[in-house]
Amino acid sequence: MLLFPIEKVGILKLENKVIYADNAATTKLSENALNAMMPLMTDIYGNPSSLHTVGQIAKEHLEEARQTIADAIGADAKEIYFTSGGSEADNQAIRTAAAIGAKKGKKHIISSKFEHHAVLHTLNALEKEGFTVTLLDVYSNGIVKPEDVRNAITDETCLVTIMTANNEIGTIQPISEIADICKEKGVLFHTDAVQAVGHIPVNVKDMKVDMLSVSAHKFHGPKGVGFLYARKGILLKNIIEGGAQERGKRAGTENMASIVGMAAALKDAVASLDENAKKVTAMRDRLIDGLKGIERSRINGDMDSRLPGTLNMCFEGIEGESLLLLLDQKGICASSGSACTSGSLDPSHVLLAIGVPVEIAHGSLRLSISEYNTMEEMDYIVETVPQVVKYLRSISPVWEKIVKEEK
Ligand SMILES: *Cc1c(COP(=O)(O)O)cnc(C)c1O
Repeated sequence: MLLFPIEKVGILKLENKVIYADNAATTKLSENALNAMMPLMTDIYGNPSSLHTVGQIAKEHLEEARQTIADAIGADAKEIYFTSGGSEADNQAIRTAAAIGAKKGKKHIISSKFEHHAVLHTLNALEKEGFTVTLLDVYSNGIVKPEDVRNAITDETCLVTIMTANNEIGTIQPISEIADICKEKGVLFHTDAVQAVGHIPVNVKDMKVDMLSVSAHKFHGPKGVGFLYARKGILLKNIIEGGAQERGKRAGTENMASIVGMAAALKDAVASLDENAKKVTAMRDRLIDGLKGIERSRINGDMDSRLPGTLNMCFEGIEGESLLLLLDQKGICASSGSACTSGSLDPSHVLLAIGVPVEIAHGSLRLSISEYNTMEEMDYIVETVPQVVKYLRSISPVWEKIVKEEK
């Protein structure tokens, strides 16, 4: 069903190819990751918990992947716990700190207003279990102030959890400064680094974090796998009970192919980090240059402290959902925010947290690009978005009102 008379908008799709500009939602699996996974789905089928040869061969692959991953973030292999993804890692990290805190009678947690729902909803659940949660402001630039963390810490605080980079607007947080404060105050510090790992340098020793969550499908690894880094000495609380896998902290036969694919993807991402960041930043800047001139638009989040590939904009007088549908018809896959909020008509909690007015937050567009994109695709996006915005405004009563008020 065509909701809009698309021919009125003009140009055709670029050679009928789809331009994928939604890499913050998920990424394409890399060829190296796929090739690394194949043997684990065919010949190497052993259960790494089995003591026989077939099992022990699988075990070797599992531990090699663990070592590769540990090396990529400056950790020890014993500090890596495989999970089903970023959400599970976030849940386990927060539940662990809550359990440690509760034992000492400390039931206060500090986080920020624009965390991923895997963090926010876990904190909601803990509030129902008697914890108090302070959500810090992220200001109009989308960056938490370390001093706000210091001021919020009380004798009751058991955890600070602040994301390394935001998934909707791409802003990067002052993680090591926050970690210093937490260390000084003796409070555990967790960071959701799902958007950061594989895109900007991440070293757990430099960042001085206690726990860090990662997901493979955000750096060209497979979906449904991730890991939690937990510093030596932190006794994780089980989210999934059962067998003794992952040193007894996460039961269930290991997702072997995915774990090995994740290691291959992460190794590549870290090896090409600078090169990819340079390429992706140039493409993002092309988008900024080409789109910033659209009247009554804004770019969300700090311009300097941001991920290479993420651009979030708002266009007054239009609905983000309509914009996405039309762009999709033009062959451009984008998002209005996180994949988790699309589908609901509420504006993004991230945009509201940085103070974007509700009516403007409705007209948001997130373009997130990767090294698989091309400059030619950026040119097409820069050509197409203004046309679609113009068309939507031409049929928007809200826009008509804005223009009238201007006169
Ligand atoms: C994608 C994402 C998650 C969730 O990871 P899954 O592997 O999809 O569960 C968590 N946090 C952030 C910041 C993300 O971008």
